[in-house]
Amino acid sequence: MATDRTPAPAGRIVIENAHIATVDPHDTEHPSGHVVVAGHRIEAVGPGPAPEVPDAVRRIDASGHLLTPGLVNTHHHFYQWLTRGLAQNAILFDWLVELYPTWAKIDDELCHAAAQGAAAALLKSGCTTAADHAYVFPRGAGDILGAEIAAVAELGMRFHPTRGSMDRSRKDGGLPPDNAVETTEAALAATEEAIDRWHDPSFDSMLRIAAAPCSPFSVSTELMRECAALARRKGVRLHTHGSETLEEEKYCHELFKMGPTDYFESVGWLGDDVWMAHSVHMSDADIDKFAVTGTGVATCPSSNARLAAGVARVPDLLRAGVPVGLGVDGAASNESGELATELRNLLLFNRVKWGADALTPRQALRVATIGGAQVLGREGEIGSIEPGKLADLALWHTDGILHAGITDKTAALVLGAVPPLTLLLVNGTAVVENGRLTRADEETIARNTAAASTTLARRAGLT
Ligand code: ZN
Repeated sequence: MATDRTPAPAGRIVIENAHIATVDPHDTEHPSGHVVVAGHRIEAVGPGPAPEVPDAVRRIDASGHLLTPGLVNTHHHFYQWLTRGLAQNAILFDWLVELYPTWAKIDDELCHAAAQGAAAALLKSGCTTAADHAYVFPRGAGDILGAEIAAVAELGMRFHPTRGSMDRSRKDGGLPPDNAVETTEAALAATEEAIDRWHDPSFDSMLRIAAAPCSPFSVSTELMRECAALARRKGVRLHTHGSETLEEEKYCHELFKMGPTDYFESVGWLGDDVWMAHSVHMSDADIDKFAVTGTGVATCPSSNARLAAGVARVPDLLRAGVPVGLGVDGAASNESGELATELRNLLLFNRVKWGADALTPRQALRVATIGGAQVLGREGEIGSIEPGKLADLALWHTDGILHAGITDKTAALVLGAVPPLTLLLVNGTAVVENGRLTRADEETIARNTAAASTTLARRAGLT
């Protein structure tokens, strides 16, 4: 097992005079409150000024700010950071077929650059924990997952990379080209190796692995079943794409003689250790199955809009008790890559589709914080501002030109422009200060991602 956990910061951090949206079970908010951070954890939260804290190494007057839990991203593909702006006018299957040949040319060095770009965009938009779904592992491409993990550790984000896989290529009736997939045996062996090498189950873990075969149309039934068995033997979570588009539904009916949710059930893929990306096209019966089994959903509003996939039934999923988190999805179908933007799109798109009472700003914030924590199995550790939980906190400036006059600060964050991010703490350590990364040079990351994108485009014969 490897961890990249930094030692607990010495001394306490005191944040005062902020509007605090705790996202605790009662949605408690303190219009002018305080939080005390000790080491990796939140020690105290409450209304008014902080009590006397003798060993405070930092006191922050957060007047004019909203303090929320750090946002949790539950679905992404970091490697796609290098293929943004391509296949601009396509639905999912056409978009995939256009991009697979380029993705088949990635390697570990390119993925390091991509992960830094993707993680930087997440951190700068208030995200403190992110899952990533890596599933393209071309032969001879080096240590792709290791490169990504190193890149994220450098920036200081809490990370849930998944070891994804594809073993159903065109010759077997799948969608990816033959050179983009692995054998079933190689995929399983690599997944097990990734878990053994990196998965850290401890309370304040910065690194947890999940097993993540890609989708029904790129993965064999055997790999789905075997991955579920492996994950349960190892005690890690399971992740995949499901019910994203009508074309996928049709594919499942043709190949498996059943819809995606029934297929997942048939291969052991419903359960409280599973979370599914998208779940857009869900019947009432599908939602019931998710609710009864505790299967989670990563909803990705911008990506679903970009690929014209539809709008997930988030209000119905929440009403049924399904754990729902927010995801940006891969940057090739969501060029913004910013999680805070998704709060607004989640609310707006669901209202367009399901009506004005579909979601409130506070429900949207819950999905983006404690909902995501639940989906990743970490609701006891992150996702709300409560004593004993890990100090993953986002401090938003809400009395500047963009938000001054909006008295409801939570509404300002969700309905308004993304506010400037004054401070982002992960595990009690500042990783963003005044909108800038503290641990890396942003211009260097931008240069490296541009160079890596050019290299990949050349390799793929696009330029
Ligand atoms: Zn995805």
